[in-house]
Amino acid sequence: MQAWVIGNWKQNPATSHDVKALLDDLLTAVSTKEQPDIAGCQLMVAPSFIHLTAVSERLEGSSILSAAQDISAHSASTGAYTGDCSAQQVADAGAAWTILGHSERRQYHQESHDCLLNKMTHALMQNLGVVFCIGETQAQYDAKKTLVVIDTQLAVIKDLLAQKPELIAGLSERLIVAYEPVWAIGTGKVPTVAEVSATHQHIKQTLASFNDALENMTVLYGGSVNADNADSFAVDSMIDGALVGGASLKAESFLAIAQAFSRATA
Ligand code: PEP
Repeated sequence: MQAWVIGNWKQNPATSHDVKALLDDLLTAVSTKEQPDIAGCQLMVAPSFIHLTAVSERLEGSSILSAAQDISAHSASTGAYTGDCSAQQVADAGAAWTILGHSERRQYHQESHDCLLNKMTHALMQNLGVVFCIGETQAQYDAKKTLVVIDTQLAVIKDLLAQKPELIAGLSERLIVAYEPVWAIGTGKVPTVAEVSATHQHIKQTLASFNDALENMTVLYGGSVNADNADSFAVDSMIDGALVGGASLKAESFLAIAQAFSRATA
């Protein structure tokens, strides 16, 4: 199975100049010496909206895909929704995928089940792939509520299938789940590989229980993945890749993570 390593750039870099420099570094490495080392890996980066068109244009013809970090819940195309970007606009900007439900969106923008159900529907109707983020807070982890929380979050996919059964065709190629414990994001703290593995197994089983077409779905781990710990996650058969924040802002560390997952698929 091909591994996925996805860089979530969040509200970075600050300038177009720095975006260009990061892309230069990435493309130079990918197109020359590093390429055989990452052959088992699909790379994708998610810049902020303001940089999405330039990044997508720059990546055209390369092996790296681009994604948005979010889309509008209100309309798949156009409307009076100040500050929003729709799935259609994101696809038109050249993105093939969008991240949805990142814990920072859930926390700072109060994204609810219904909001995420709308976003997922809009994305898939506009032929965008979806990287759907789920994960528990520190308090929920301490209270051993991880699987309960995850089941509640995965219900968005169950409801999507109930409301739009026509979207099931090809969904296994257009939907990726990223398990990101909130307490591991940007903190340097990580769960054990055994914990992540067991949680991923639960996620895969739950998705398969929604529909036979969702058997063996791609499930990524995210939360303080870096060049030093990537190998330990990559060797576990339940972990199909990584969603990477901080370490995706340097080509060297991002590609080291890709190399770890690529090695593990060989
Ligand atoms: C993220 O925000 O999706 C993430 C995984 O961040 P970091 O790698 O910095 O923990």
